[in-house]
Amino acid sequence: MDSMSQTDGYTRFVNRPLGKQVAKTLGLPQPVPLRRHQKGDRLVTGPILIVGDSEAADAVAQQLWAEDYDVRRDAGLKQKFSAIIVAFDEIQHPNDLSAHVLVVGDALRGLGTNGRVITIFRDPQGPSVATDPNVVAARHGVEGFTRSLAKEMRRGATTNGIVLAEDVDMTAPSAYAALRFFLSGRSAYVAGQFLNVSTAAGITPEDQDAPLDEKVIVVTGAARGIGAAISETLARDGATVMGIDMPSAGEALTSVMNTVGGIAVQMDITAQDAGHQLLQKAAQRFGRLDGIVHNAGITRDKLLANMDDSKWDALVAVNIAAPLRINQQLVAARGEGVLADNFRITSLASTSGIAGNRGQTNYGAAKAGVIGMSEALATTLAETGGSINAVAPGFIETAMTDAMPTATREVARRMNSLQQGGRPVDVAEAIAFFHTDASAGINGTTLRVCGQSMVGK
Ligand code: NAD
Repeated sequence: MDSMSQTDGYTRFVNRPLGKQVAKTLGLPQPVPLRRHQKGDRLVTGPILIVGDSEAADAVAQQLWAEDYDVRRDAGLKQKFSAIIVAFDEIQHPNDLSAHVLVVGDALRGLGTNGRVITIFRDPQGPSVATDPNVVAARHGVEGFTRSLAKEMRRGATTNGIVLAEDVDMTAPSAYAALRFFLSGRSAYVAGQFLNVSTAAGITPEDQDAPLDEKVIVVTGAARGIGAAISETLARDGATVMGIDMPSAGEALTSVMNTVGGIAVQMDITAQDAGHQLLQKAAQRFGRLDGIVHNAGITRDKLLANMDDSKWDALVAVNIAAPLRINQQLVAARGEGVLADNFRITSLASTSGIAGNRGQTNYGAAKAGVIGMSEALATTLAETGGSINAVAPGFIETAMTDAMPTATREVARRMNSLQQGGRPVDVAEAIAFFHTDASAGINGTTLRVCGQSMVGK
């Protein structure tokens, strides 16, 4: 599918000559089709500028050179760039910011459509600096700079940041994997966000086109929408998918699983023994289980004053109680031979779970719970090389958002730095990233895939 056919009607209009003129004259949003990853794509097609001469800057240059990218350490005059990487890992005081940011400011004029700016810095909450206000202020400064620059980007370009723990450097597999994710079309709808690399764990895949080779991964709610896209993306990256959905969605589930070469399992995830059943099925069919994606979810929107217990309880049962119970059953089976040591769990949170949303007290509570679940289980999973992370989508073009009233939908679509809705595949790419061996050093986090939606922090 070409990138233009994947956009909404307004985006297609403003990318034609007449529409472009109208939007420019009236000062209307001018979204462009986003660059999305296709199997075999390079991370970027043009030069990459690295700003800074720190240890991280040198490491990144070496890694990208080794992959035959056109890396520049000097902005030069009127150069064109596909990406700008800014290494702030050694800054000690907010005064240190200006040298780098002014170079970036100049270079931005040469940044192409769908370009990338990526900042690299150290964790402001790192224990060894907690008492040095200069360092903490400088690191928080990079965070603020990254978020604000992300809001200045146009023409599909994004700014995101990589946060390194004190004892982790850019040669760590997860740090470089995070850089690759942000550079590539896999992060098309991720803007103004951070990936926190907390340990040097992880293994760089031999084949970057098949980072999930040989993995067996369960996807709940796989019959349609985001779950179907996750199944397709995991399969594209080499995984075998075990798709779960309600018996009532059996036909759609079979069709998705036939497309991705996976197996369909009809099951209600709220069943008390759902985790045991999954494990048993995986053991019978594959003799292993490498990960689970908690994607199945429902909405039961009502203002709290009009909420009844069935709406509250049904939502909590599916969106958070089931994932909690399934995780407990899976984690208890570690060491029995089916569950991989480096078992990965990902879950669908939502920006509503971060910022709150009117009419969604039940959904907001459950999705915030998903974020808490990731934080709480991270240490347990890391004991054997595993991880658990959440992805929080914003406005994603699905049947759910199609059903919104036109005016509300149009406003929601434009209220983000990319001025358009995301696609299910954008969420799927983030999920797939967290299932790779390379991402092991990123654990207990929540990544927003929301185009830097204006809701929430
Ligand atoms: P969807 O309604 O299109 O699909 C959800 C799937 O889950 C369906 O196939 C449904 O049958 C299945 N399911 C529901 N209850 C189940 C159960 N008890 N057992 C097994 N399967 C069950 O939803 P979607 O829009 O694709 O959203 C997927 C996930 O992403 C959800 O967790 C949702 O909360 C989250 N999310 C979506 C958006 C968005 O914009 N669409 C935004 C933020 C978060």
